[in-house]
Amino acid sequence: MTGWRWTVLSDGWTQAREALLIQGGAWRKVVRCAATAVLLEREADDPVLFDCGYSSRFLSETRGWPGRLYRCLAPAMICEPEGIAGILRRRGVEIRHVIVSHWHADHVGGLRDFPNANVYASREGWDAVSGLRGMAAVRQGILPGLLPEDLLERIRWMEEGSDLFGDGSMTAMALPGHAVGQMGVRFEGSDGRPVLLAADACWVSDCYRLNRLPHRVTGILHDLPAYQATLQRLHRLWQDEPELLILPCHCPETATLIANR
Ligand SMILES: [Zn+2]
Repeated sequence: MTGWRWTVLSDGWTQAREALLIQGGAWRKVVRCAATAVLLEREADDPVLFDCGYSSRFLSETRGWPGRLYRCLAPAMICEPEGIAGILRRRGVEIRHVIVSHWHADHVGGLRDFPNANVYASREGWDAVSGLRGMAAVRQGILPGLLPEDLLERIRWMEEGSDLFGDGSMTAMALPGHAVGQMGVRFEGSDGRPVLLAADACWVSDCYRLNRLPHRVTGILHDLPAYQATLQRLHRLWQDEPELLILPCHCPETATLIANR
């Protein structure tokens, strides 16, 4: 079985102090955190997208309150006005499957641009956010206006170990902590190297390498015991499988792989 050809794409970024992203980081250092999505392609299979970036809808959804609070805390710079969908259109790629790692706005901003795609997500993650509105939603990083009305009709639930396409080529991995029910996926790349798309299990790769949490104040966003257990799991994987490429969504190292610039 051939592996998946994977391509990192991005339509925008935010920035944060390094000290927030990892304990021991510098307050003076500002880190650019790209919102990345990953295109997965394999001959004879329909193209798959893992997460879908901000899209310019993020800006319209955060123009007024309470969405504006999101923009104040994590301002987004959109560098592709037509979003990930625009990049894919230019490449002539039609997405049939979108995997949602979690429902934060920088991961599902473009979801409405894929009205014909199956959506893969964790039931636990969905149940935790689906009823949220107004300030309660924004506090969880959710902008309900980004979600298509017919979403539930297109959702296929996934959980730890789910074989997404029934052929063992891509499996889901639970990465709770940053968000309830957060999921990553693991697959073999077309070059034979195994890859784990780790979403926001951590923001920078040094967190899993050093097994070190982000700053304590980010605990208001996180389930810290779950976060720590996920980080520990990634740390062990990194130790046990040196060939495994672990890609956190917003890490600057992942950003060096962005193909659309
Ligand atoms: Zn997130």
